Amino acid sequence: TSFDEMGFATKALGDNVRRCKYVNPTPIQKYAIPVGMAGRDLMACAQTGSGKTAAFCFPIINSILLHKNNNTITGIGSRGSSATAFPMALILAPTRELASQIHEEAKKFSYQTGVKVVVAYGGAPIVLQLQNLEKGVDILVATPGRLVDLIERRRVSLRNVKYLALDEADRMLDMGFERQIRMIVQQMHMPPPGSRQTMLFSATFPDQIQRLASDFLSNFIFLAA
Ligand code: AMP
Repeated sequence: TSFDEMGFATKALGDNVRRCKYVNPTPIQKYAIPVGMAGRDLMACAQTGSGKTAAFCFPIINSILLHKNNNTITGIGSRGSSATAFPMALILAPTRELASQIHEEAKKFSYQTGVKVVVAYGGAPIVLQLQNLEKGVDILVATPGRLVDLIERRRVSLRNVKYLALDEADRMLDMGFERQIRMIVQQMHMPPPGSRQTMLFSATFPDQIQRLASDFLSNFIFLAA
């Protein structure tokens, strides 16, 4: 499968692939993008440098664009003087370095599509992040601790999240984020099974990851490298 054959919803996505100078999909992209675009839950074994960022970003951006063709305007709700943001997609990452890398890539992939990407991580002033959230957000890239803070301040609601990606899930658990991750996922409304699409990426698969997968994913496809 080439990127051209993947059937992106808009020409802009294909243009962005070319602008990034991606010619051939990496193995993880080749298998994960069609599965993700089909709306299936996914657990994938992926190391750094495998191209995993595009593997979860393209299906998310594509689905948001398809959804936006039917509905317009998402991302922001009013709540007194300070607005609550309602992202449609959430990407969780263990560190601020990884979160900001994903943010940079996701912005390139969504260039000229109208999809808004915002990043929020700890160890940096929250004020700018709050201002960015107020401008509207479709895809929120966040580290777990800062996201819990934003939820508690009622500046982010996960009620509308339809796409969830967990990147380097094993590292997030190693860093002691399991409690925060579970709290975050509990905030998402998902009454009919399968109403949220979840993609979990990890380099290793200890029992703790398998338990997360069985708690968060439904009827998922497993891609081993
Ligand atoms: P990642 O594993 O997502 O961090 O990607 C590692 C690096 O490979 C990044 O610099 C990407 O921009 C680049 N990359 C990802 N996919 C491709 C591709 N299909 N062709 C060329 N470079 C890629």
